[in-house]
Parts: sequence; C-alpha cells; structure tokens
Amino acid sequence: MLESSCLCGANRISFEGDISVKMRCHCIDCRKFSGSTNTNNIALPLAGMKILKGTLKTYTKQVATGNNMTSHFCGDCGSTLYRISTFNEGVAAVMIGGIDGLETIEDGKAHVELFVKNRPSWMAPIQGAKQVEGTWLPDHES
Ligand SMILES: [Zn+2]
Ligand SMILES: [Zn+2]
Repeated sequence: MLESSCLCGANRISFEGDISVKMRCHCIDCRKFSGSTNTNNIALPLAGMKILKGTLKTYTKQVATGNNMTSHFCGDCGSTLYRISTFNEGVAAVMIGGIDGLETIEDGKAHVELFVKNRPSWMAPIQGAKQVEGTWLPDHES
C-alpha cells in the first residue's frame, strides 16, 4: 500500500493495487499545475484509493484530446496528489512526489515519456523509456 500526503499535511490518501504504467509528462498543463518542467506519475486503480484524512479540491480542464483532466489537490497548500482523465476514469495518475517513502520514488522511473517535444534541451531522456511526441493512450497504442 502507498500513502500520499500534501505539503501541509491536511490531506492523506492511500492506494492499493498494481501500478499499470509509470509516466513522465512534459505537457504544458503539467508544467503549470506543478510549477516545474514536468511531472512524474504512476497509474493506480482508483478503486484502491482511500481517503485517510482531509478533503481534496478539484479542478477540471479539457485537454487537446478532448478528454477532461481533473486535478485533486489540497485547497490550503496547493499540492496536487493525483489526476483523473475522462479517458479512463478508473485510473488515478498519482504524482510520485506526494508519495511518502523513498522506495516508490526510487522505483518510479518512467516507462513512457510524454510530450517530449517540450522537454528542455538540458534534460536527458530517461534511458529505456518510450518517447512519445504528444499524449499516449494505452488502449490506442500503435
Ligand atoms: Zn495541504
Ligand atoms: Zn502532462
């Protein structure tokens, strides 16, 4: 089981289940909500999520594919703990930075890098990770 918490500690959630994919995303939305150059996420079944403490706020934005992405974040400190797409509402893209315990971060090396066209030249590609120009939808892999 994994536990995730926000910066101020008001929110804590846990996840059970298998990680289906590990992603690094360089899209502009990920930049904006994270305040960094990219995000690193692991996909976990939403059915295995439990709220241990607090109430996360949500913010929904339509993305280029036409799907809506909803961020679940702390309304006090602003940490985004996970995001859900209408493309696959049963899966949470959990931000690995919120997960407590170094093992998961250490094990969080992405299988796939998205929107690599936005990756800054000073950042190296992840060795062995699939490199995708835009988004990647697991069920539509060519
Ligand atoms: Zn917080
Ligand atoms: Zn992104």
